[in-house]
Amino acid sequence: PEQIDPDPNKKTLVVLGTGWGSVSLLKKLDTENYNVVVISPRNYFLFTPLLPSCTTGLIEHRSIMEPVRNFLRHKKAAVKFYEAEATKIDYERRVIYVNDESEIKGESHTTEVPFDMLVVGVGAENATFGIPGVREHSCFLKEVNDAQRIRQRIMDCCETATFKDQSPDEVKRLLHMVVVGGGPTGVEFAGELQDFFENDLKKWIPDIKDNFKVTLVEALPSVLPMFSKQLIDYTEKTFKEETIEVRTKTMVKNVTDKYIEAEFTDANGQKQTEKIPYGLLVWATGNALRPVVKDLMAQIPAQKDSRRGLAVNEYLVVKGTENVWAVGDCAVAGYAPTGQVAAQEGAFLARLFNQMGKTESIDLELKNLSAVQETAPNKEKRDEAFARIKDLQRRRRRVNSMGPFEYSHQGSLAYIGSEKAVADISWLTGNLASGGTLTYFFWLSAYLSMCFSTRNRILVIMDWTKAKVFGRDVSRE
Ligand code: FAD
Ligand code: NAD
Repeated sequence: PEQIDPDPNKKTLVVLGTGWGSVSLLKKLDTENYNVVVISPRNYFLFTPLLPSCTTGLIEHRSIMEPVRNFLRHKKAAVKFYEAEATKIDYERRVIYVNDESEIKGESHTTEVPFDMLVVGVGAENATFGIPGVREHSCFLKEVNDAQRIRQRIMDCCETATFKDQSPDEVKRLLHMVVVGGGPTGVEFAGELQDFFENDLKKWIPDIKDNFKVTLVEALPSVLPMFSKQLIDYTEKTFKEETIEVRTKTMVKNVTDKYIEAEFTDANGQKQTEKIPYGLLVWATGNALRPVVKDLMAQIPAQKDSRRGLAVNEYLVVKGTENVWAVGDCAVAGYAPTGQVAAQEGAFLARLFNQMGKTESIDLELKNLSAVQETAPNKEKRDEAFARIKDLQRRRRRVNSMGPFEYSHQGSLAYIGSEKAVADISWLTGNLASGGTLTYFFWLSAYLSMCFSTRNRILVIMDWTKAKVFGRDVSRE
Protein backbone atom coordinates (compact mmCIF):
# COMPACT_ATOMS: atom_id res chain seq x y z
CA PRO A 1 0.00 0.00 0.00
CA GLU A 2 1.02 3.55 -0.70
CA GLN A 3 2.27 5.68 2.19
CA ILE A 4 -0.38 8.26 2.91
CA ASP A 5 -0.75 10.85 5.65
CA PRO A 6 -2.64 9.75 8.76
CA ASP A 7 -6.39 9.85 8.32
CA PRO A 8 -7.77 12.41 10.83
CA ASN A 9 -10.98 10.37 11.10
CA LYS A 10 -9.15 7.33 12.38
CA LYS A 11 -7.57 6.70 15.73
CA THR A 12 -3.79 6.36 15.92
CA LEU A 13 -2.77 2.95 17.21
CA VAL A 14 0.86 2.77 18.26
CA VAL A 15 2.48 -0.64 18.71
CA LEU A 16 5.77 -0.85 20.60
CA GLY A 17 8.11 -3.72 19.77
CA THR A 18 8.51 -6.28 17.02
CA GLY A 19 8.71 -9.44 19.12
CA TRP A 20 6.34 -12.36 19.58
CA GLY A 21 3.45 -10.32 20.99
CA SER A 22 3.50 -7.28 18.72
CA VAL A 23 4.20 -9.18 15.50
CA SER A 24 1.44 -11.67 16.15
CA LEU A 25 -0.91 -8.68 16.62
CA LEU A 26 0.32 -6.95 13.47
CA LYS A 27 -0.01 -10.10 11.39
CA LYS A 28 -3.73 -10.41 12.10
CA LEU A 29 -4.64 -6.74 12.50
CA ASP A 30 -6.98 -5.16 10.00
CA THR A 31 -4.90 -2.01 9.47
CA GLU A 32 -7.65 -0.16 7.59
CA ASN A 33 -9.42 0.74 10.82
CA TYR A 34 -6.57 2.74 12.38
CA ASN A 35 -3.51 4.83 11.62
CA VAL A 36 -1.03 2.16 12.68
CA VAL A 37 2.46 3.15 13.83
CA VAL A 38 5.06 0.56 14.87
CA ILE A 39 8.10 1.58 16.91
CA SER A 40 10.93 -0.82 17.67
CA PRO A 41 14.74 -0.63 17.79
CA ARG A 42 14.75 -3.86 15.78
CA ASN A 43 13.35 -3.88 12.25
CA TYR A 44 12.84 -7.64 12.33
CA PHE A 45 11.10 -10.39 14.22
CA LEU A 46 13.37 -12.94 15.89
CA PHE A 47 12.32 -16.57 16.26
CA THR A 48 13.88 -17.06 19.72
CA PRO A 49 13.35 -20.85 20.10
CA LEU A 50 16.17 -21.47 17.63
CA LEU A 51 18.48 -18.76 18.97
CA PRO A 52 20.54 -21.22 21.07
CA SER A 53 21.39 -23.04 17.82
CA CYS A 54 22.88 -19.81 16.44
CA THR A 55 25.51 -19.69 19.18
CA THR A 56 27.32 -22.66 17.65
CA GLY A 57 26.69 -21.91 14.00
CA LEU A 58 24.27 -24.81 13.59
CA ILE A 59 21.83 -22.24 12.32
CA GLU A 60 22.80 -18.88 10.86
CA HIS A 61 21.08 -16.03 12.66
CA ARG A 62 19.59 -14.50 9.52
CA SER A 63 17.61 -17.68 8.95
CA ILE A 64 15.50 -16.99 12.05
CA MET A 65 14.99 -13.27 11.43
CA GLU A 66 12.11 -11.88 9.42
CA PRO A 67 12.19 -8.20 8.43
CA VAL A 68 8.99 -6.48 9.55
CA ARG A 69 8.92 -4.57 6.28
CA ASN A 70 8.37 -7.92 4.54
CA PHE A 71 4.98 -8.50 6.06
CA LEU A 72 3.92 -4.92 6.80
CA ARG A 73 4.00 -4.10 3.08
CA HIS A 74 1.30 -6.73 2.48
CA LYS A 75 -1.16 -5.08 4.85
CA LYS A 76 -4.28 -3.53 3.32
CA ALA A 77 -3.57 -0.06 4.67
CA ALA A 78 -0.07 1.37 5.06
CA VAL A 79 1.66 1.00 8.41
CA LYS A 80 4.35 3.44 9.56
CA PHE A 81 7.46 1.83 11.01
CA TYR A 82 10.05 3.82 12.99
CA GLU A 83 13.27 2.01 13.91
CA ALA A 84 13.70 3.58 17.32
CA GLU A 85 13.43 2.97 21.01
CA ALA A 86 10.57 4.30 23.10
CA THR A 87 12.39 6.03 25.94
CA LYS A 88 9.32 7.29 27.78
CA ILE A 89 5.57 6.93 27.55
CA ASP A 90 3.75 10.01 28.82
CA TYR A 91 0.41 8.56 29.74
CA GLU A 92 -1.29 11.87 30.59
CA ARG A 93 -0.24 13.61 27.38
CA ARG A 94 -0.69 10.48 25.26
CA VAL A 95 2.69 10.77 23.61
CA ILE A 96 5.70 8.52 23.35
CA TYR A 97 9.22 9.88 23.32
CA VAL A 98 11.33 7.99 20.82
CA ASN A 99 15.04 7.91 20.06
CA ASP A 100 16.85 6.54 17.05
CA GLU A 101 19.56 4.54 18.83
CA SER A 102 21.12 3.11 15.66
CA GLU A 103 24.59 4.05 14.46
CA ILE A 104 23.42 6.34 11.69
CA LYS A 105 21.33 9.23 12.91
CA GLY A 106 19.65 11.83 10.76
CA GLU A 107 18.96 15.43 11.72
CA SER A 108 15.80 14.13 13.29
CA HIS A 109 16.63 11.31 15.66
CA THR A 110 14.62 12.10 18.73
CA THR A 111 10.96 12.96 18.58
CA GLU A 112 7.47 12.47 20.01
CA VAL A 113 4.76 10.22 18.64
CA PRO A 114 1.17 10.83 19.80
CA PHE A 115 -1.24 7.95 20.30
CA ASP A 116 -4.94 7.37 20.87
CA MET A 117 -4.42 3.68 21.54
CA LEU A 118 -1.17 2.05 22.62
CA VAL A 119 0.05 -1.54 22.73
CA VAL A 120 3.15 -2.12 24.83
CA GLY A 121 5.02 -5.21 23.62
CA VAL A 122 8.60 -4.30 24.50
CA GLY A 123 9.48 -7.62 26.16
CA ALA A 124 11.90 -7.81 29.07
CA GLU A 125 15.51 -7.21 29.93
CA ASN A 126 18.00 -9.77 31.22
CA ALA A 127 17.84 -10.18 34.99
CA THR A 128 21.14 -9.77 36.82
CA PHE A 129 19.74 -9.24 40.34
CA GLY A 130 22.38 -6.56 40.76
CA ILE A 131 25.09 -9.21 41.05
CA PRO A 132 28.41 -7.41 40.55
CA GLY A 133 30.31 -8.07 37.32
CA VAL A 134 27.51 -9.78 35.40
CA ARG A 135 26.98 -7.05 32.82
CA GLU A 136 30.70 -6.47 32.32
CA HIS A 137 31.88 -10.04 31.97
CA SER A 138 29.12 -12.36 30.84
CA CYS A 139 27.16 -12.91 27.65
CA PHE A 140 23.37 -12.95 27.67
CA LEU A 141 21.30 -14.97 25.23
CA LYS A 142 18.33 -12.94 24.13
CA GLU A 143 19.09 -11.12 20.91
CA VAL A 144 20.93 -11.88 17.69
CA ASN A 145 24.06 -9.99 18.72
CA ASP A 146 24.22 -12.03 21.95
CA ALA A 147 24.32 -15.25 19.94
CA GLN A 148 26.97 -13.82 17.60
CA ARG A 149 29.07 -12.74 20.55
CA ILE A 150 28.87 -16.17 22.16
CA ARG A 151 29.79 -17.85 18.86
CA GLN A 152 32.88 -15.67 18.57
CA ARG A 153 33.87 -16.22 22.18
CA ILE A 154 33.60 -20.00 22.03
CA MET A 155 36.07 -19.99 19.15
CA ASP A 156 38.26 -17.37 20.79
CA CYS A 157 38.50 -19.50 23.95
CA CYS A 158 39.42 -22.59 21.92
CA GLU A 159 42.05 -20.78 19.84
CA THR A 160 43.50 -18.99 22.88
CA ALA A 161 43.66 -22.28 24.82
CA THR A 162 45.84 -23.75 22.08
CA PHE A 163 48.16 -20.71 21.99
CA LYS A 164 51.85 -21.52 22.41
CA ASP A 165 53.08 -22.04 26.00
CA GLN A 166 49.64 -21.73 27.62
CA SER A 167 49.85 -23.18 31.16
CA PRO A 168 47.64 -26.23 31.96
CA ASP A 169 45.57 -24.23 34.46
CA GLU A 170 44.98 -21.49 31.95
CA VAL A 171 43.97 -24.04 29.30
CA LYS A 172 41.47 -25.53 31.75
CA ARG A 173 40.08 -22.11 32.57
CA LEU A 174 39.74 -21.03 28.96
CA LEU A 175 37.95 -24.22 28.01
CA HIS A 176 35.56 -24.08 30.93
CA MET A 177 32.20 -22.95 29.56
CA VAL A 178 29.95 -21.90 32.44
CA VAL A 179 26.23 -21.34 32.06
CA VAL A 180 24.36 -19.67 34.93
CA GLY A 181 20.63 -20.36 35.14
CA GLY A 182 19.03 -23.76 34.67
CA GLY A 183 15.83 -22.51 33.02
CA PRO A 184 15.15 -23.55 29.42
CA THR A 185 17.55 -20.93 27.99
CA GLY A 186 20.53 -22.21 30.02
CA VAL A 187 19.65 -25.86 29.46
CA GLU A 188 19.20 -25.51 25.69
CA PHE A 189 22.40 -23.54 25.32
CA ALA A 190 24.40 -26.05 27.39
CA GLY A 191 23.03 -28.87 25.23
CA GLU A 192 23.87 -27.07 21.97
CA LEU A 193 27.37 -26.24 23.16
CA GLN A 194 28.14 -29.82 24.18
CA ASP A 195 26.83 -30.97 20.75
CA PHE A 196 29.17 -28.51 19.06
CA PHE A 197 32.09 -29.99 20.98
CA GLU A 198 31.10 -33.61 20.33
CA ASN A 199 30.22 -33.21 16.65
CA ASP A 200 32.81 -30.76 15.42
CA LEU A 201 35.18 -29.04 17.82
CA LYS A 202 36.94 -32.10 19.17
CA LYS A 203 37.52 -33.41 15.63
CA TRP A 204 38.88 -30.16 14.34
CA ILE A 205 40.85 -29.03 17.37
CA PRO A 206 41.90 -32.32 19.01
CA ASP A 207 44.17 -30.41 21.45
CA ILE A 208 41.15 -29.21 23.41
CA LYS A 209 39.61 -32.66 23.72
CA ASP A 210 40.59 -33.38 27.33
CA ASN A 211 39.85 -29.99 28.83
CA PHE A 212 36.69 -28.69 27.16
CA LYS A 213 33.94 -28.73 29.77
CA VAL A 214 30.44 -27.33 30.12
CA THR A 215 29.03 -26.58 33.59
CA LEU A 216 25.47 -25.49 34.32
CA VAL A 217 24.94 -23.61 37.58
CA GLU A 218 21.46 -23.37 39.09
CA ALA A 219 20.41 -21.87 42.43
CA LEU A 220 17.33 -24.10 42.88
CA PRO A 221 17.42 -27.83 43.65
CA SER A 222 16.73 -28.78 40.01
CA VAL A 223 16.95 -27.49 36.45
CA LEU A 224 13.84 -26.82 34.32
CA PRO A 225 11.49 -26.25 37.27
CA MET A 226 8.50 -25.78 34.91
CA PHE A 227 8.77 -29.37 33.62
CA SER A 228 7.49 -32.50 35.34
CA LYS A 229 9.72 -34.38 37.78
CA GLN A 230 10.17 -37.24 35.31
CA LEU A 231 11.51 -34.89 32.63
CA ILE A 232 13.76 -33.04 35.09
CA ASP A 233 15.31 -36.39 36.03
CA TYR A 234 15.62 -37.33 32.36
CA THR A 235 17.35 -34.02 31.57
CA GLU A 236 19.78 -34.35 34.47
CA LYS A 237 20.56 -37.96 33.50
CA THR A 238 21.11 -36.99 29.85
CA PHE A 239 23.39 -34.13 30.88
CA LYS A 240 25.43 -36.56 32.95
CA GLU A 241 25.83 -38.84 29.93
CA GLU A 242 26.77 -35.86 27.79
CA THR A 243 29.31 -34.98 30.53
CA ILE A 244 27.73 -31.61 31.24
CA GLU A 245 28.22 -30.91 34.92
CA VAL A 246 25.06 -29.71 36.64
CA ARG A 247 25.62 -27.75 39.84
CA THR A 248 22.24 -27.29 41.48
CA LYS A 249 21.64 -25.44 44.78
CA THR A 250 24.54 -23.23 43.78
CA MET A 251 23.95 -19.49 43.72
CA VAL A 252 26.32 -17.18 41.88
CA LYS A 253 27.05 -14.11 44.00
CA ASN A 254 29.88 -12.37 42.21
CA VAL A 255 31.45 -12.32 38.76
CA THR A 256 34.97 -11.28 37.80
CA ASP A 257 36.66 -11.41 34.42
CA LYS A 258 38.14 -14.88 35.05
CA TYR A 259 36.00 -16.62 37.68
CA ILE A 260 32.61 -16.60 39.32
CA GLU A 261 32.02 -16.89 43.04
CA ALA A 262 29.23 -19.28 43.90
CA GLU A 263 27.64 -20.17 47.20
CA PHE A 264 26.52 -23.71 47.99
CA THR A 265 25.72 -25.76 51.05
CA ASP A 266 28.17 -28.58 51.76
CA ALA A 267 27.42 -32.06 53.14
CA ASN A 268 27.56 -30.70 56.72
CA GLY A 269 24.98 -28.04 56.01
CA GLN A 270 27.64 -25.31 56.01
CA LYS A 271 27.50 -22.50 53.44
CA GLN A 272 30.63 -22.49 51.29
CA THR A 273 31.84 -20.11 48.62
CA GLU A 274 33.73 -21.47 45.67
CA LYS A 275 35.64 -19.69 42.94
CA ILE A 276 34.89 -21.27 39.58
CA PRO A 277 37.25 -20.16 36.78
CA TYR A 278 35.71 -19.80 33.32
CA GLY A 279 36.63 -18.94 29.74
CA LEU A 280 33.08 -18.26 28.56
CA LEU A 281 30.26 -17.23 30.88
CA VAL A 282 26.67 -17.25 29.66
CA TRP A 283 24.13 -15.63 31.97
CA ALA A 284 20.57 -16.92 31.63
CA THR A 285 18.74 -16.14 34.87
CA GLY A 286 15.48 -14.93 33.37
CA ASN A 287 13.68 -11.63 32.91
CA ALA A 288 13.67 -8.15 34.46
CA LEU A 289 11.54 -5.06 33.75
CA ARG A 290 12.59 -2.61 31.06
CA PRO A 291 13.02 1.01 32.32
CA VAL A 292 10.33 2.34 29.95
CA VAL A 293 7.83 -0.12 31.47
CA LYS A 294 8.91 0.67 35.02
CA ASP A 295 8.45 4.37 34.30
CA LEU A 296 4.96 3.85 32.84
CA MET A 297 3.96 1.80 35.88
CA ALA A 298 5.08 4.63 38.14
CA GLN A 299 2.65 7.00 36.32
CA ILE A 300 -0.41 4.82 36.94
CA PRO A 301 -1.61 4.52 40.55
CA ALA A 302 -3.38 1.21 39.85
CA GLN A 303 0.01 -0.34 38.99
CA LYS A 304 1.60 0.48 42.31
CA ASP A 305 1.48 -3.09 43.66
CA SER A 306 2.63 -4.73 40.46
CA ARG A 307 6.27 -5.86 40.53
CA ARG A 308 6.92 -8.06 37.54
CA GLY A 309 5.33 -5.98 34.81
CA LEU A 310 2.22 -4.14 33.65
CA ALA A 311 -0.77 -5.71 35.37
CA VAL A 312 -3.49 -6.23 32.76
CA ASN A 313 -7.16 -7.23 32.98
CA GLU A 314 -8.73 -10.16 31.13
CA TYR A 315 -8.90 -8.07 27.92
CA LEU A 316 -5.18 -7.23 28.29
CA VAL A 317 -5.98 -3.60 29.10
CA VAL A 318 -3.31 -2.16 31.40
CA LYS A 319 -5.08 -1.73 34.74
CA GLY A 320 -5.76 1.89 35.55
CA THR A 321 -5.93 2.91 31.85
CA GLU A 322 -8.53 2.74 29.08
CA ASN A 323 -6.42 3.01 25.99
CA VAL A 324 -3.24 1.09 26.79
CA TRP A 325 -2.83 -2.66 26.30
CA ALA A 326 0.18 -4.84 27.08
CA VAL A 327 1.28 -8.18 25.65
CA GLY A 328 4.09 -10.66 26.24
CA ASP A 329 6.95 -10.56 28.71
CA CYS A 330 6.20 -6.98 29.86
CA ALA A 331 2.61 -7.85 30.83
CA VAL A 332 1.42 -9.66 33.94
CA ALA A 333 -1.63 -11.63 32.94
CA GLY A 334 -0.99 -14.68 35.11
CA TYR A 335 0.96 -16.72 32.56
CA ALA A 336 4.63 -17.63 32.09
CA PRO A 337 6.72 -15.21 30.01
CA THR A 338 6.88 -17.33 26.86
CA GLY A 339 6.60 -16.75 23.14
CA GLN A 340 3.58 -19.02 23.10
CA VAL A 341 1.69 -16.78 25.54
CA ALA A 342 2.84 -13.56 23.83
CA ALA A 343 1.72 -14.81 20.39
CA GLN A 344 -1.74 -15.76 21.66
CA GLU A 345 -2.11 -12.41 23.42
CA GLY A 346 -1.12 -10.55 20.26
CA ALA A 347 -3.60 -12.54 18.17
CA PHE A 348 -6.33 -11.85 20.76
CA LEU A 349 -5.70 -8.09 20.58
CA ALA A 350 -5.81 -8.18 16.79
CA ARG A 351 -9.28 -9.77 16.98
CA LEU A 352 -10.35 -7.27 19.65
CA PHE A 353 -9.16 -4.27 17.63
CA ASN A 354 -10.71 -5.64 14.43
CA GLN A 355 -14.02 -5.93 16.28
CA MET A 356 -13.64 -2.45 17.75
CA GLY A 357 -12.95 -1.13 14.26
CA LYS A 358 -16.16 -2.75 13.05
CA THR A 359 -18.11 -1.32 16.01
CA GLU A 360 -16.88 2.16 15.20
CA SER A 361 -17.91 1.93 11.57
CA ILE A 362 -21.32 0.56 12.64
CA ASP A 363 -21.71 3.47 15.08
CA LEU A 364 -20.94 5.95 12.31
CA GLU A 365 -23.50 4.33 10.03
CA LEU A 366 -26.04 4.28 12.85
CA LYS A 367 -25.53 8.00 13.38
CA ASN A 368 -26.09 8.70 9.69
CA LEU A 369 -29.17 6.47 9.58
CA SER A 370 -30.84 8.11 12.55
CA ALA A 371 -30.38 11.44 10.78
CA VAL A 372 -32.03 9.89 7.70
CA GLN A 373 -34.85 8.58 9.84
CA GLU A 374 -35.54 12.00 11.27
CA THR A 375 -35.36 13.91 8.04
CA ALA A 376 -36.61 11.40 5.44
CA PRO A 377 -39.53 12.89 3.46
CA ASN A 378 -41.60 9.68 3.21
CA LYS A 379 -42.53 6.70 5.37
CA GLU A 380 -40.96 4.19 3.00
CA LYS A 381 -37.52 5.74 3.47
CA ARG A 382 -38.01 5.99 7.23
CA ASP A 383 -39.00 2.28 7.46
CA GLU A 384 -36.01 1.32 5.36
CA ALA A 385 -33.71 3.24 7.69
CA PHE A 386 -35.44 1.71 10.73
CA ALA A 387 -34.92 -1.85 9.44
CA ARG A 388 -31.27 -1.14 8.71
CA ILE A 389 -30.80 0.35 12.20
CA LYS A 390 -32.27 -2.81 13.78
CA ASP A 391 -29.96 -4.96 11.69
CA LEU A 392 -26.91 -2.88 12.60
CA GLN A 393 -27.80 -2.92 16.28
CA ARG A 394 -27.97 -6.72 16.14
CA ARG A 395 -24.57 -6.83 14.45
CA ARG A 396 -23.13 -4.46 16.99
CA ARG A 397 -24.29 -6.66 19.87
CA ARG A 398 -22.72 -9.70 18.18
CA VAL A 399 -19.43 -7.86 17.64
CA ASN A 400 -19.42 -6.61 21.21
CA SER A 401 -19.87 -10.05 22.67
CA MET A 402 -16.22 -11.01 22.36
CA GLY A 403 -15.11 -12.97 25.42
CA PRO A 404 -11.97 -12.28 27.46
CA PHE A 405 -8.51 -13.61 26.67
CA GLU A 406 -8.03 -17.28 27.44
CA TYR A 407 -4.63 -18.88 27.09
CA SER A 408 -4.52 -22.32 25.55
CA HIS A 409 -1.34 -24.09 26.63
CA GLN A 410 0.04 -26.25 23.83
CA GLY A 411 2.86 -27.64 25.96
CA SER A 412 6.48 -27.02 26.87
CA LEU A 413 9.37 -28.21 24.75
CA ALA A 414 13.11 -27.96 25.26
CA TYR A 415 16.14 -29.30 23.42
CA ILE A 416 18.65 -30.94 25.77
CA GLY A 417 21.50 -31.92 23.42
CA SER A 418 22.64 -35.14 21.68
CA GLU A 419 19.49 -35.09 19.56
CA LYS A 420 17.18 -35.39 22.54
CA ALA A 421 14.39 -33.13 23.71
CA VAL A 422 11.88 -33.03 26.53
CA ALA A 423 8.20 -32.26 26.06
CA ASP A 424 5.29 -31.71 28.43
CA ILE A 425 2.35 -31.65 26.10
CA SER A 426 -1.30 -31.28 26.97
CA TRP A 427 -3.38 -33.49 24.72
CA LEU A 428 -7.13 -33.70 24.85
CA THR A 429 -6.82 -36.84 26.94
CA GLY A 430 -4.39 -35.45 29.50
CA ASN A 431 -0.73 -34.66 29.80
CA LEU A 432 2.02 -36.38 27.92
CA ALA A 433 5.53 -36.12 29.27
CA SER A 434 8.16 -37.46 26.96
CA GLY A 435 11.88 -37.27 26.48
CA GLY A 436 14.30 -38.72 23.95
CA THR A 437 15.13 -38.90 20.28
CA LEU A 438 11.56 -39.25 19.09
CA THR A 439 10.70 -36.15 21.10
CA TYR A 440 13.64 -34.45 19.38
CA PHE A 441 12.05 -35.08 15.97
CA PHE A 442 8.80 -33.74 17.37
CA TRP A 443 10.72 -30.68 18.64
CA LEU A 444 12.32 -30.23 15.21
CA SER A 445 9.07 -30.44 13.31
CA ALA A 446 7.16 -28.31 15.83
CA TYR A 447 9.67 -25.47 15.66
CA LEU A 448 10.03 -25.74 11.91
CA SER A 449 6.31 -25.44 11.49
CA MET A 450 6.26 -22.46 13.87
CA CYS A 451 8.93 -20.52 11.94
CA PHE A 452 7.64 -17.18 10.80
CA SER A 453 7.70 -17.78 7.06
CA THR A 454 8.37 -20.40 4.40
CA ARG A 455 11.57 -18.49 3.67
CA ASN A 456 12.70 -18.97 7.30
CA ARG A 457 11.74 -22.63 7.22
CA ILE A 458 13.75 -23.32 4.07
CA LEU A 459 16.77 -21.41 5.39
CA VAL A 460 16.73 -23.34 8.68
CA ILE A 461 16.51 -26.70 6.87
CA MET A 462 19.40 -25.65 4.60
CA ASP A 463 21.52 -24.62 7.63
CA TRP A 464 20.83 -27.91 9.40
CA THR A 465 21.71 -29.90 6.29
CA LYS A 466 24.86 -27.86 5.71
CA ALA A 467 26.05 -28.41 9.30
CA LYS A 468 25.28 -32.15 9.13
CA VAL A 469 27.22 -32.56 5.87
CA PHE A 470 30.15 -30.20 6.34
CA GLY A 471 30.15 -29.62 10.10
CA ARG A 472 29.59 -26.24 11.73
CA ASP A 473 31.66 -23.32 10.55
CA VAL A 474 34.34 -22.64 13.18
CA SER A 475 35.81 -19.49 11.66
CA ARG A 476 35.81 -16.64 14.14
CA GLU A 477 34.49 -13.61 12.31
P1 FAD B 1 10.18 -9.94 22.63
O1 FAD B 1 9.95 -11.06 21.68
O2 FAD B 1 11.42 -9.95 23.44
O3 FAD B 1 10.10 -8.59 21.80
C1 FAD B 1 10.26 -7.34 22.38
C2 FAD B 1 10.38 -6.31 21.28
O4 FAD B 1 10.37 -5.01 21.82
C3 FAD B 1 11.66 -6.44 20.46
O5 FAD B 1 11.36 -6.22 19.12
C4 FAD B 1 12.51 -5.33 21.02
O6 FAD B 1 13.46 -4.86 20.09
C5 FAD B 1 11.45 -4.27 21.29
N1 FAD B 1 11.81 -3.25 22.27
C6 FAD B 1 12.63 -3.35 23.34
N2 FAD B 1 12.70 -2.18 23.99
C7 FAD B 1 11.91 -1.32 23.33
C8 FAD B 1 11.58 0.04 23.51
N3 FAD B 1 12.08 0.76 24.52
N4 FAD B 1 10.75 0.61 22.62
C9 FAD B 1 10.24 -0.08 21.60
N5 FAD B 1 10.50 -1.38 21.38
C10 FAD B 1 11.33 -1.99 22.23
N6 FAD B 1 9.24 -19.10 24.37
C11 FAD B 1 8.52 -20.15 23.94
O7 FAD B 1 7.29 -20.11 24.05
N7 FAD B 1 9.10 -21.25 23.38
C12 FAD B 1 10.45 -21.33 23.22
O8 FAD B 1 10.97 -22.33 22.73
C13 FAD B 1 11.24 -20.22 23.64
N8 FAD B 1 12.59 -20.26 23.48
C14 FAD B 1 13.34 -19.19 23.88
C15 FAD B 1 14.71 -19.24 23.69
C16 FAD B 1 15.50 -18.16 24.08
C17 FAD B 1 16.98 -18.22 23.88
C18 FAD B 1 14.89 -17.02 24.69
C19 FAD B 1 15.73 -15.86 25.11
C20 FAD B 1 13.52 -17.00 24.88
C21 FAD B 1 12.73 -18.08 24.48
N9 FAD B 1 11.35 -18.07 24.67
C22 FAD B 1 10.59 -19.13 24.23
C23 FAD B 1 10.69 -16.94 25.33
C24 FAD B 1 10.19 -15.95 24.29
O9 FAD B 1 11.21 -15.57 23.40
C25 FAD B 1 9.65 -14.69 24.96
O10 FAD B 1 8.71 -15.04 25.93
C26 FAD B 1 9.03 -13.79 23.91
O11 FAD B 1 10.04 -13.28 23.08
C27 FAD B 1 8.24 -12.66 24.53
O12 FAD B 1 7.66 -11.92 23.52
P2 FAD B 1 7.50 -10.34 23.62
O13 FAD B 1 6.80 -9.90 22.39
O14 FAD B 1 6.94 -9.98 24.93
O15 FAD B 1 9.00 -9.80 23.65
P1 NAD C 1 14.11 -18.74 33.83
O1 NAD C 1 13.58 -17.65 34.65
O2 NAD C 1 13.19 -19.78 33.33
O3 NAD C 1 15.27 -19.50 34.62
C1 NAD C 1 16.32 -18.80 35.24
C2 NAD C 1 16.97 -19.71 36.27
O4 NAD C 1 18.13 -19.04 36.80
C3 NAD C 1 16.06 -20.02 37.44
O5 NAD C 1 15.90 -21.42 37.53
C4 NAD C 1 16.80 -19.41 38.64
O6 NAD C 1 16.69 -20.21 39.80
C5 NAD C 1 18.25 -19.37 38.16
N1 NAD C 1 19.04 -18.34 38.84
C6 NAD C 1 18.70 -17.05 39.09
N2 NAD C 1 19.70 -16.40 39.70
C7 NAD C 1 20.72 -17.27 39.84
C8 NAD C 1 22.03 -17.18 40.38
N3 NAD C 1 22.48 -16.05 40.90
N4 NAD C 1 22.80 -18.28 40.37
C9 NAD C 1 22.36 -19.43 39.84
N5 NAD C 1 21.14 -19.57 39.29
C10 NAD C 1 20.31 -18.52 39.29
O7 NAD C 1 14.91 -18.03 32.61
P2 NAD C 1 15.10 -18.42 31.09
O8 NAD C 1 15.58 -19.82 30.95
O9 NAD C 1 15.91 -17.36 30.48
O10 NAD C 1 13.65 -18.34 30.51
C11 NAD C 1 12.89 -17.14 30.49
C12 NAD C 1 11.50 -17.39 29.97
O11 NAD C 1 11.56 -17.80 28.60
C13 NAD C 1 10.79 -18.51 30.71
O12 NAD C 1 9.44 -18.20 30.85
C14 NAD C 1 10.94 -19.69 29.80
O13 NAD C 1 9.86 -20.61 29.92
C15 NAD C 1 10.97 -19.06 28.42
N6 NAD C 1 11.80 -19.92 27.55
C16 NAD C 1 11.21 -21.04 27.05
C17 NAD C 1 11.95 -21.91 26.28
C18 NAD C 1 11.31 -23.16 25.76
O14 NAD C 1 10.12 -23.30 25.87
N7 NAD C 1 12.06 -24.07 25.18
C19 NAD C 1 13.31 -21.63 26.03
C20 NAD C 1 13.88 -20.49 26.58
C21 NAD C 1 13.10 -19.64 27.35
